Amino acid sequence: SQDAFAYHISLACNHCANPACAQVCPTEAMHRDELGLIWPDHSKCIGCGYCTMACPYHAPAIDKTLKRSSKCDGCRERIAAGLAPICVEACPLRALDFGEKGELHERHEDYWDEVRGDILPLPEESATGPNLFILPSPAAAENRSGSIANRKELNL
Ligand code: SF4
Ligand code: SF4
Ligand code: SF4
Repeated sequence: SQDAFAYHISLACNHCANPACAQVCPTEAMHRDELGLIWPDHSKCIGCGYCTMACPYHAPAIDKTLKRSSKCDGCRERIAAGLAPICVEACPLRALDFGEKGELHERHEDYWDEVRGDILPLPEESATGPNLFILPSPAAAENRSGSIANRKELNL
């Protein structure tokens, strides 16, 4: 018998309540804007990479051409215009949603009690307070003690 299990997760930036990326940024380039979204202001970023090391979700990366931090900004221009993020519109299975926590709760009332933000291999929610709400598959809901077999493939 074997006890391997697998599932997929979609992960970008969680626009965390306690953003480790912004806390270590020496220039305040990584900041929260008026919409609550966190992104690096390239006019202040010096490309030091501290945010890439601090984020436990590996969300920021240094753009090799720009030499500046780059990551999901929550499609802030679309959000400001009342549109959904590109990833939400592009997902063919409609697995993604985006919005204020209260709106998401209303739209997904049926299973909201089951949502979590810390399925394996994600860190405990207490680390950064991610604004991430996952309805886990049964395998993800039951297993908090497995291990990742393909670390190299995941770039971890
Ligand atoms: S997921 Fe990472 S990059 Fe995004 S806000 Fe949280 S700590 Fe920062
Ligand atoms: S790479 Fe830019 S955004 Fe990231 S910590 Fe350094 S200055 Fe801040
Ligand atoms: S499509 Fe927009 S919201 Fe989705 S991951 Fe990319 S920048 Fe973030």
